[in-house]
Amino acid sequence: MKLSVRFYLLMTAIFLSFSLVSWLAFSDMVNEINVLWGKRFAERQVLFDKHRTLSPLIREIKLARQMAAEPALLEMALHENDAAVRRRATRVMERYRFDFRDHSYFAAFARSGNYYFNDSAGQYSDRPYRYTLSPHEKRDYWFYATMKSGVDYQVNLDPDVHLGVVKVWINVLLKSGGEVLGVIGTGIDLTEFLKESVDINQPGVDTFFVDKSLAIQLSADPKLIDYASIAKTVGERIKIDVLFKNPEDIERLRQTAIDLEKHQGGEVSTLWVDYRGEKRLLGMAYLPEVGWYDLTLMDESSLQVLRGFTWLPLLLGTIFLMAMLILGFLLHRWVLNPIARLTKATEHIQRGNYDIEPPIVGKGEISALSRSFWQMVEFVRNANVELERKVNERTQDLLRLTEIDYLTGLLNRRGMTDKLEKEVARQARQGGSMGLLLLDLDHFKQVNDKYGHAAGDLAICATANVLRSMKRSYDYAGRWGGEEFMLLLPECNEDEMVAIAERIREAIRNLHIEAGPRNFSFTVSIGVHFPSGPQTLDAMLQQADKALYAAKDAGRDCVRTSRQQS
Ligand code: GH3
Ligand code: MG
Ligand code: MG
Repeated sequence: MKLSVRFYLLMTAIFLSFSLVSWLAFSDMVNEINVLWGKRFAERQVLFDKHRTLSPLIREIKLARQMAAEPALLEMALHENDAAVRRRATRVMERYRFDFRDHSYFAAFARSGNYYFNDSAGQYSDRPYRYTLSPHEKRDYWFYATMKSGVDYQVNLDPDVHLGVVKVWINVLLKSGGEVLGVIGTGIDLTEFLKESVDINQPGVDTFFVDKSLAIQLSADPKLIDYASIAKTVGERIKIDVLFKNPEDIERLRQTAIDLEKHQGGEVSTLWVDYRGEKRLLGMAYLPEVGWYDLTLMDESSLQVLRGFTWLPLLLGTIFLMAMLILGFLLHRWVLNPIARLTKATEHIQRGNYDIEPPIVGKGEISALSRSFWQMVEFVRNANVELERKVNERTQDLLRLTEIDYLTGLLNRRGMTDKLEKEVARQARQGGSMGLLLLDLDHFKQVNDKYGHAAGDLAICATANVLRSMKRSYDYAGRWGGEEFMLLLPECNEDEMVAIAERIREAIRNLHIEAGPRNFSFTVSIGVHFPSGPQTLDAMLQQADKALYAAKDAGRDCVRTSRQQS
């Protein structure tokens, strides 16, 4: 696989893992921020709901408690049959009626069970007695339950069957000493109150108020409200089970309620719950003034403050891609392109072409590599030149060896022929003269026979030495055959040749070859040929041969010229 492909694959793998990791980290972060902000939001929302709902109730409770402390009312609870007492009490109650938000009041007395009431229209101002409560009437259970509870004041939602209205009742115990003398209070119209408290139409937010038994007291959906909770057994009440299906959620909620009540402060707890199949953040606060809990549910989408940040990973991805492109460009420029140029250079060198410009390419390590590469090329080039020179030298040596006689070191017949041809050619070009001496040792068979072949070789070598020592520097001496020799003499005349031949013959004659205990001598016959005009080599050799035969014929150990024999 090419380096660039590997590189891009690697970069893509890094890019994908980077994207995945950063996306996960980013979503995690966004989620965390959302949850954090969600909780803050929930806390604010709960406090807001709590105050909005609580403020009117607290005002009414305060007023009702003041009314319960009025001596005229306590007196009436004790002396209800006294018309003057009743009048005084009625006056007081009427006064409070104007202050109450709904301009209505009620008072129910324990001893008689009589229930007094006047509404905003003031239709019962003259005869506030409405009816007498009975512990046997289910609709009157609230009264007996409230008295029995002993709790100073309570908020209770109840349809008043006698009056045909549903109200949020503020019930305050009328007490004297330790005795509970009755229940007095006022009511707020539920429909109005719901509009102001829980049914505020905030998208994604649902608010409920529940009592300590987790029975629903306020809900935007009036059907979910558990009316007259106080008059029912806990099992009969409509509780948060209708909102939350997951038993674990209900258990956590119950536990949170206990914790909140313990603290009594303005604390808000948040927990994630499953609300009608949707994940919701639940904010919960305790309202000690009424003994209720505020439950505010917010859906996830209304909490997601960082929804619009999906472009951030996209931006990161784009930056990474750009970085990859720049890296790719630099990789090509700094590494791949110089390597491609070096590769091209190696292809030239592979073809044996060392004569290329050595470009130093790349930067840093690549430049060092390039430099070493060209040093190596230089070394190989020099080594090649040296090798070629040595091979040529050796070839020349071998060529020379093929022209040298192994025994005597003189030119052999091939070498001699080469010199003869060159000399003939030179003469043809430049003119000049040349002559040949052809020598043949006399009765050499007998020498071999008598003294042995090795002794014969010694004689041949001794002859060669004579020729070598007596020839001029520009003459050529060669072994023409077994015991035959030749001397080529350029720039010479016949007389000089004869003289040289005679000196050679004489020198050979005087040689003494040691063959074991015996010494022996031998002689040579020499034919001399000096052509008077231009002649072919063959013709010259023939003439020299003839001169030699003439010398043999003349009795050996003598010199004859080609002219003498003709
Ligand atoms: P002639 O006087 O007529 O020349 O008589 P010859 O015996 O020399 O006869 P010829 O030249 O025909 O014989 C050559 C002899 O030289 C034959 C061979 O035994 C001997 N000879 C040739 N080459 C060598 C060599 O390399 N070493 C030795 N020892 N003898 C050689
Ligand atoms: Mg011979
Ligand atoms: Mg011979």
